[in-house]
Amino acid sequence: MEHMIQPSCNLCPWWFRILECYPRYNKTMIHEIFPVGPLRCNCSIIGDESTREAMVIDPGDDIDDVLALLRKHNLQVKQIVITHAHIDHVGGAMKLRAATGAPILLNQNDYTLLKMLDVQAAWVGMAAPGAVEIDQSINTGDTVKAGEHAASVLHTPGHTEGSICLYFPAEKTLIAGDTLFAGSIGRTDLPGGSMQKIMQSLHGSVLALPDETVVVPGHGPLTTIGEERQSNPFLVRR
Ligand SMILES: [Zn+2]
Repeated sequence: MEHMIQPSCNLCPWWFRILECYPRYNKTMIHEIFPVGPLRCNCSIIGDESTREAMVIDPGDDIDDVLALLRKHNLQVKQIVITHAHIDHVGGAMKLRAATGAPILLNQNDYTLLKMLDVQAAWVGMAAPGAVEIDQSINTGDTVKAGEHAASVLHTPGHTEGSICLYFPAEKTLIAGDTLFAGSIGRTDLPGGSMQKIMQSLHGSVLALPDETVVVPGHGPLTTIGEERQSNPFLVRR
């Protein structure tokens, strides 16, 4: 589409008019995805190239690596978002908060699970990270932001009671936590898990997203909603 500078902006000087009227193309979102900790949880850094503001999603471990990447991109963390309270996703959150001053966000239905981090550590043979304090609960209808890049919070219980996914509509990207994987779905046999709820979350919220949505699962390779709708053995309706 060809852009025309609108001649109707009479109140602003011409240079401002150009800035205001120029179509706003999607600026590239900085998105670093890298596995952290012994369980290789996919941690995401989302950054805004113009404001240099960032959010970190699921800093389960290896916080020195997270901080190095933030420095590399010259980003300042404004929010630490946790998809669910399993140790491999939340274990490094307090260390990152101490280093950046950013608040930690988690759905309140996972607060019980968060109090069991030492038990979880024993399950997986990790060192207990100590208590994690949550600054704010997030739920469906809330928005989390890194500068101009905004994600809708989707409460998707099933893997845990407080599991959430984050959907960036402009970037057509879903951070799925452990709700959806390439070719699989989150396990439901741990405390707070429910097969019935995860199926409701997947069919009701996740699969309502467009096929071209890129899915960043909590572990393993990326996929798309279309790919999973077509071939994920847990989701294909026969
Ligand atoms: Zn998990």
